[in-house]
Amino acid sequence: MSIELSVKEADITTLQVDAIVNAANSSLLGGGGVDGAIHRAAGPRLLEECRGLGGCDVGDTKLTLAYRLKARFVVHTVGPVWRGGSEGEPDLLASCYRRSMAVAVKKQVSSLAFPCISTGVYGYPAELAAEVAVDVVGSVISRYDSLREVVFCCFSRGDAELYERLIRIREI
Ligand code: ADP
Repeated sequence: MSIELSVKEADITTLQVDAIVNAANSSLLGGGGVDGAIHRAAGPRLLEECRGLGGCDVGDTKLTLAYRLKARFVVHTVGPVWRGGSEGEPDLLASCYRRSMAVAVKKQVSSLAFPCISTGVYGYPAELAAEVAVDVVGSVISRYDSLREVVFCCFSRGDAELYERLIRIREI
């Protein structure tokens, strides 16, 4: 069965997928950027559930329900803050993508959307982050039978073009 990898320029809260990934911070108690948008769209019960999770380590994930969102689940992951690239940032970012897919598959998720983790306030250069994202997702998707669609949800045309180019180059 082939898996569809797609790129969308969209607000991730509007996507009709089984699960969306949130680029959260380690408190899981909400923040700006995509995290703020997800909490606003999901409603206050998301924060209530997050309060009981005890935070999340960088590179790790925690799963919650998605409340008012169209998705069924939110996979919260904490990306690394960019500190120049030699402090383990690529491995930590790769771990965010890998673990998000693993936790989603455990819930039989068949479509999953990622934002461009760490590339906002956390300062990870967009192109380097996209390379990690496409490499990790491209190399593990075939392992997951239940996963039919992975969406790279970009918030700008520039990011979407980056992903489209990388996917084309890698012929995924
Ligand atoms: P981080 O702290 O991990 O850098 P940010 O939320 O600041 O997280 O940014 C991560 C990415 O999410 C950025 O590319 C930003 O443009 C994008 N983003 C912000 N809001 C949304 C949204 N509603 N839907 C999709 N992507 C978004």
